[in-house]
Amino acid sequence: MDIVFFGNGISEDPNPDKIRLGGKGSNLCRMAALGIPVPPGIVLPTTLCRDYMERGHLPPELMPSVHEKLKKVEEATGRHFANPHKPLLVSVRSGAPVSMPGMMDTILNLGLNADTVKGMVLETGDERFVLDSYRRFIQMFGDVVLGIPHHSFEEILNHHKKKSDAVQDTDLKPAALRDIIDDYRNLVQKGTGQPFPDDPFMQLRMAVEAVFRSWNNERAIYYRRLNHIPESYGTAVNVQSMVFGNMGNTSGTGVCFTRNPSTGERKFYGEFLINAQGEDVVAGIRTPQKIEELEREMPDVYKELLRIQALLESHYRDMQDIEFTVQQGKLYLLQTRNGKRTSAASLKIACDMVDEKLIDPRTALLRIEAEGLPALLAPIFDPTEVNAARSEKRVLAKGLNAGPGAASGYAVFQSAHAVEMAAKGKTPLLVRMETSPDDIKGMQHSSGILTARGGMTSHAAVVARGMNKPCVVGCSALIVHEEHGYADIVTEEGRHVRINEGDEVSIDGTSGEVFVGRMQTVDSDIQRAMRGEIDPASSWMARDFFQVMKWADEVRRLRVRANADTPQDANVARSFGAEGIGLCRTEHMFFGPERLPFMQQMILARTQEERELALKRLLPFQREDFERLFEAMAGYPVTIRLLDPPLHEFLPHTDEQIAELSQKIGVTEEHIRERASTLKESNPMLGHRGCRLGITYPEITRMQVRAILEAACKSRKKNIHVHPEIMVPLVGHRKELSLQKELLEVEAKRLLAEFDCHVDYKIGTMIEVPRAALTADQIAIDASFFSFGTNDLTQMTLGFSRDDSEPFLREYLRLGVYERNPFATVDESGVGEMIRIALQKGKSARHDLKTGVCGEQGGDPTSIRFFNRVGLDYVSCSPYRVPVARLAAAQAVLASE
Ligand code: ADP
Ligand code: MG
Ligand code: MG
Repeated sequence: MDIVFFGNGISEDPNPDKIRLGGKGSNLCRMAALGIPVPPGIVLPTTLCRDYMERGHLPPELMPSVHEKLKKVEEATGRHFANPHKPLLVSVRSGAPVSMPGMMDTILNLGLNADTVKGMVLETGDERFVLDSYRRFIQMFGDVVLGIPHHSFEEILNHHKKKSDAVQDTDLKPAALRDIIDDYRNLVQKGTGQPFPDDPFMQLRMAVEAVFRSWNNERAIYYRRLNHIPESYGTAVNVQSMVFGNMGNTSGTGVCFTRNPSTGERKFYGEFLINAQGEDVVAGIRTPQKIEELEREMPDVYKELLRIQALLESHYRDMQDIEFTVQQGKLYLLQTRNGKRTSAASLKIACDMVDEKLIDPRTALLRIEAEGLPALLAPIFDPTEVNAARSEKRVLAKGLNAGPGAASGYAVFQSAHAVEMAAKGKTPLLVRMETSPDDIKGMQHSSGILTARGGMTSHAAVVARGMNKPCVVGCSALIVHEEHGYADIVTEEGRHVRINEGDEVSIDGTSGEVFVGRMQTVDSDIQRAMRGEIDPASSWMARDFFQVMKWADEVRRLRVRANADTPQDANVARSFGAEGIGLCRTEHMFFGPERLPFMQQMILARTQEERELALKRLLPFQREDFERLFEAMAGYPVTIRLLDPPLHEFLPHTDEQIAELSQKIGVTEEHIRERASTLKESNPMLGHRGCRLGITYPEITRMQVRAILEAACKSRKKNIHVHPEIMVPLVGHRKELSLQKELLEVEAKRLLAEFDCHVDYKIGTMIEVPRAALTADQIAIDASFFSFGTNDLTQMTLGFSRDDSEPFLREYLRLGVYERNPFATVDESGVGEMIRIALQKGKSARHDLKTGVCGEQGGDPTSIRFFNRVGLDYVSCSPYRVPVARLAAAQAVLASE
């Protein structure tokens, strides 16, 4: 058995690996080796968890090996497990390779029973402390191992607190604690039909097994799925000698960050509680004190803590989240890990650490989650409205600014209600006294989180930061009656305000303010700087953002384009750094009220003449839009897809719409109805669309190439460099493309001669039909570029439509048929294989074939890693995701090195 001992300046494993020892165990080993005081302990590696899951029970030789190794801990501490004289008490802590806050439960003070309690009382002379530890142990063990609900214990505790007039749990006297312990033990007897296990060996065995088992509890599974953590990892178990923060007023416990996890500011940051154990800080039972106050209370401990946190940060070269306990004036570190942080903080910390020469720009790029960037670009509350709200006293309260960003939503007080409301398409905002791991789903579905209790390191704050959600905690003016569906607030000026479920509220996670009603939002500094409205240097966030984008651009190989159908989108895309348009869906240019009727007329036309008439009206609109697109993208390529209209989206449906259209285009209602019913397709996705339309109605293609090239010529005359790329959609057969190409070239030649203008245009195709991918060598003969239309390619390769797959896809994802939604992240082994084949075949026929992707997946970081690997030239995504793609493309390069 490869159980590892750590403590007293040594780690038995010289190279403690996270996958093997879990994050917690690996870092405990490292800290021990760095000479940092950690209570000695042992780590049972994750391999044992996998072993346990396969067998369904602990291997018989496991516990003997654990006890053998535990002798080292006994030596190191001078204490003995299960011995009433100086008993060794331990904590049993889970620790997965990836930190999963709140997912696994720790048991403290294990090894206590009537005998060891007596021994401890003799030794310490502090009966209150020993009994307090004992009742905590029964409570945690009862909850985590025996499955007795936490609140049953809390009820007993509260009952006795009331009975003996204790305000805090620290006020409880030994007699009361003894009663609590009796009641706890009875509760266990009743709940499990068996007495509480008094044999420490049995306790340890059961606890170890419970930790292994907890890997598969529902919350853990949900968190792993949400964060794509492999099921196969398993958790390690750490059995560690106890230190006690609840030994009176020279003891305590705390949680700190080496920098502010919310803003990124370089300032030691944290909270502590005097005379408290373990989770008390995080659970929000008492409101903790700020870490600066520790300097006054325990100056030596504070100095030592400052030294250690600096040492840890320079060792790990990253912001650390640390746990400590002080036992009678002596400081111990219990945990360190890379701290979770908001996107804003990750940006600032990464850039600051480069300035401080702790890391290089490449490392900095890997420290920022690409998926977190949209939150930074997200709007903030309109400052003028905030000021108005302040003066109109619409500010209800102020809490701690735990997760920045602005959120408005309908108040809900229970997580289940948040889930229900979100399912109905409304935006909930979760309001609770405090949150627990059971609230994860509700938090996930809410626009923001507001809690009455807890500090910056409380569950709500930590999880919200992980989810990148606006969050305000410790809003003490708030009392939430979760069961009754309302919350009361006493405002600063003493007004009583009631919030009912469904009332609109807003929270500002940057200032900590809570408002009644919905608030208007405005663009963030980064957005304004990108549009050139403010100088990036005037705002640290904009400055750091620009810096990171610059580093990313230096590293990435993939070009990043945007999908843009309108000049407005094109301008946004350019300001976000798009290097061209990868997809302009021309049918989207016809949605406006002036244009739609002609588009409908074109679709409804019965004869070529009618169609040409409608096309003639559409042409000027297209030409003007193209001109403005070319202007916005001056010097960059613009890929224009020929018309690919889903007919049903353009046809009028109701009698009213039909009547209105009839008026506008001068066609009788009967005619419209008749044509509409002829055009009705039983499977529109595989119907008369894409190049099939252009082949059967060549006048459509002709009009479009005319609009494109006329616009190009006009732009050229204005000295704008244009690179139109004409893209033929939905090609499956070489002949489809060559027919369209011939048509395009004849028309183009005529037109360019007419305008006496040279335009460097290209003709290519979308690869979205499996047949095209499989015959890409033939198709590449006529295509100078391929753009993978991964939406349709996914639908056609998987054989299910994106819009109809919701009901079974959810189940598929749960069952792991597909690991991720294939419409969000490219399905590498299926669709990815299509892409690989098409690339290989396509390039064999045309070595300078330009390749890109223009589906939804083009903006997804995981997919981008794949696209980078297979050697595409560019990705194209929605304008707002361009920064995500720029960063992800750089990260893809770094990850492959
Ligand atoms: P989590 O993974 O939820 O953070 P931990 O294993 O870190 O769980 O433990 C929960 C709490 O118990 C933490 O506050 C931790 O510092 C404390 N704790 C764990 N082991 C010990 C120990 N040996 N002595 C004192 N406190 C401990
Ligand atoms: Mg911890
Ligand atoms: Mg398509």
